[in-house]
Amino acid sequence: MRRNDWTKILGWPGYTIFQQEIDEKAKTSKLWVRRKRGNRRLICSGCSARISEPSDTTEREVRDLPWGEFRTTVVIELYRLRCPNCGLRIEKVDQLPCKAPFSKRFEEAVGEACESASARRVAKKFGLAKSTVRAIDLRYLERWNAQRKKPALRDLGVDEIFLGKSVIFVTVASNVESGEPLWFGRERKKETLDEFFRSELSSRQRQRIEAACVDMWEPFKASIQQWSPNCAIVYDKFHIMQHANKGVDEVRRAEFFRNGARMRGLVKGKRWLLLTRWIQLNSDKRQQLNHLFSLNRKVMKAYLPKESLERLWTYTYAGAMLRYLSSWTLQLHWQRLPAFGNLAHMLIDHVDGILNYGRVTVRFGVVEAINGNIKSLLRRGPGYRNLRYLLLKAQRMAVTKTEFVAIRKAA
Ligand SMILES: [Zn+2]
Repeated sequence: MRRNDWTKILGWPGYTIFQQEIDEKAKTSKLWVRRKRGNRRLICSGCSARISEPSDTTEREVRDLPWGEFRTTVVIELYRLRCPNCGLRIEKVDQLPCKAPFSKRFEEAVGEACESASARRVAKKFGLAKSTVRAIDLRYLERWNAQRKKPALRDLGVDEIFLGKSVIFVTVASNVESGEPLWFGRERKKETLDEFFRSELSSRQRQRIEAACVDMWEPFKASIQQWSPNCAIVYDKFHIMQHANKGVDEVRRAEFFRNGARMRGLVKGKRWLLLTRWIQLNSDKRQQLNHLFSLNRKVMKAYLPKESLERLWTYTYAGAMLRYLSSWTLQLHWQRLPAFGNLAHMLIDHVDGILNYGRVTVRFGVVEAINGNIKSLLRRGPGYRNLRYLLLKAQRMAVTKTEFVAIRKAA
């Protein structure tokens, strides 16, 4: 095979192979490449300035895509440039986006593989360490993120995710229209969300936000009112039902868990049963739930208002919602369920934002879906403890619509 053909197969624009080596036993090949004669555009890798004359040459070795069964290494002849801005620097080469020993298209192949498989599986396929795969994937996502057009932010979502152990809470700001997370911040204070408004948005972008979907959490509300005073705050069903579910769970724990091993055994694994909506249960599950209720009336008493609260969002007019909410609160009066008493107070205090559901058109359920996606990533491995990686990965998932987890109630 002629050298020209080797160059064609390699397919690096502007580069030609001048030497090659094949080890048939080890199934490896090594190719030495340099610029084609006409290719003389020299760019500084530090500042992208155009430089007319090279200073000297050097070499770099990177792993490239395999040729059939042969693992392929490319040795590139590189120019060093004397840049007026940066001093002595290596030239910029399209196939070498970073200092790691891989070509750009090799990194892209690894990044694409990571979109549908775990880092462990990709590592095995490419013969790399897991940590290397994650580092490549992160660079792949950063490059994708740097060149994409980002949609305008009109409806903001703010949520928190519990990570546990070292970082307890992460605040998630998201674009509800495009369904992607925009930013993660440590903790869930007013200052956390302030940081998002200050560092991520221009004053023009802040003014353009029309609605914010948030939990009934005062620090977030205070931050939104300070930075984007004209935006309507909406408390969505997802967050309110989370509080109601927490109420049911509290009663479940108090009634069963603190009452000995036998009672604990009865309720084991039944948590999701209580937190799932009745209409979503099949007859077998309904029977299990009824059995649980026959053992403990108090759990049933907590379950009923949780179920009936859902009906609030079947009303589309603010007036009708308010009437329903008042009657729901009145019924609670006789139940002696402190968790729900507190929830009722909370709902009354935030009634304006709850009724905004009937006034503002925002895609509901999106905050919940984003939340679910992030949690599913976190379950996949410790690599996602890197918040930057987690964010880019979740953004990529939202944009490519891959692996969007089904929206589950009662998380
Ligand atoms: Zn430079």
